[in-house]
Amino acid sequence: MLTFDEYQQRVIASVGPLPAQRRPTAEVADLLGMVTAESVRSAVALPGFTNSAMDGYAVVAADVQRATEESPVEMPVAGDIPAGDTRQLELSAGSCWRIMTGAPLPTGADAVVQVELTDGGTERVQIRGAVDAGTAVRRQGEDVQPGDEVLAGGTLLQPRHVPVLLSVGVDEIAVLPRPRVAVVSTGDELVSPGEPVAHGQVVDSNGPMLGALARECGFEVAEVRRAGDTAEAVRQALSELAQTADLIVTSGGVSAGAFEPMKLAFEDSDHFEFVKVAMQPGKPQGIGTVAGTPVFALPGNPVSSLVSFLLFVAPAARVLAGRDPAVPTVEAAVAERWTSPPGRQQFARVVFDEDGRVVRPIGGQGSHVLGGLAGSQALAIVPAATTEVAVGETLRVIPLEGLA
Ligand code: AMP
Ligand code: MG
Repeated sequence: MLTFDEYQQRVIASVGPLPAQRRPTAEVADLLGMVTAESVRSAVALPGFTNSAMDGYAVVAADVQRATEESPVEMPVAGDIPAGDTRQLELSAGSCWRIMTGAPLPTGADAVVQVELTDGGTERVQIRGAVDAGTAVRRQGEDVQPGDEVLAGGTLLQPRHVPVLLSVGVDEIAVLPRPRVAVVSTGDELVSPGEPVAHGQVVDSNGPMLGALARECGFEVAEVRRAGDTAEAVRQALSELAQTADLIVTSGGVSAGAFEPMKLAFEDSDHFEFVKVAMQPGKPQGIGTVAGTPVFALPGNPVSSLVSFLLFVAPAARVLAGRDPAVPTVEAAVAERWTSPPGRQQFARVVFDEDGRVVRPIGGQGSHVLGGLAGSQALAIVPAATTEVAVGETLRVIPLEGLA
């Protein structure tokens, strides 16, 4: 039996980052959640032109040096410069332009008097206060110079990166693509959602659940399909999916029964191993490759499948995506005792108390308990040596909401 940490390390070490792709920067909305493969350097200066930081009047600061509330300086207004004005304008000494925030400063102007310091005139204006040269002026290039690195390689693209990415005049950026995850549910007892369920049959809930988890974690779902309980059926499904998917996850058929198709198909393969991991749920696990594509064979009980996806498949897929594989956890105190099997690291379904820092167990901890799974908000991590989780103890927990 492997410890949980040993197996998780093995899973993470078994994969590497996908090859980078060049993608149009204009498609940045699709690129969020991806990691940059190299640094992004600006092709332009930002701001791209010297412009006004205020609504007001573009002036030569020296012309309004003596302006005060009591004795304003009056001058002619040459015209308006709204934002988006593409004219090349000049300022003649002794006059001003009325200018809006973001509009290009006319040549010759060195400051903007904010409108609140004036009478707001359009033909002539009274300036009621002096300003220093540079006041309310955003200089070309004061933010970014051509050639400056605006994003380091390895940046996980977030909404806050969008403005700079779209402004630096770079048509394409190199990113690691979202891993394409294919899902295969094994089991002759399974029927597709929406189909009638006969005695002895169950709805294939793992396929859709694993697909949903993959999407929620920021991966692409290549395909979700079912395969029956024969070695031939799963071999066939996996070799087809290996052509298009970056990672395949299967559910079921890895435990100790007489008809375990994943084991029957791959037990003798040099590219596969089936192991027992000292954890609950999720003890039987399979890991391997088909035509070079990583395959993670998860146990079929829905709770085991979900826990195994979050602890093994998601970290591996994050490695493919160039992201940090670590599973995010928070600390919580225990509000109600429960027991944990000796020698196995437990991932107990829990709910948070009102303040969000205290947890209590929910439902039975059986791997088939779907109601308890739906009601749970987090997985509390109970160390293998612990058999009784006591009130007041502090545990690390994996929140089940906001997995991306
Ligand atoms: P297995 O790991 O194949 O032995 O399956 C363990 C349990 O999980 C059995 O009760 C199966 O019926 C159930 N199970 C397996 N696959 C699925 C699935 N895709 N959806 C729902 N239940 C499943
Ligand atoms: Mg089965």
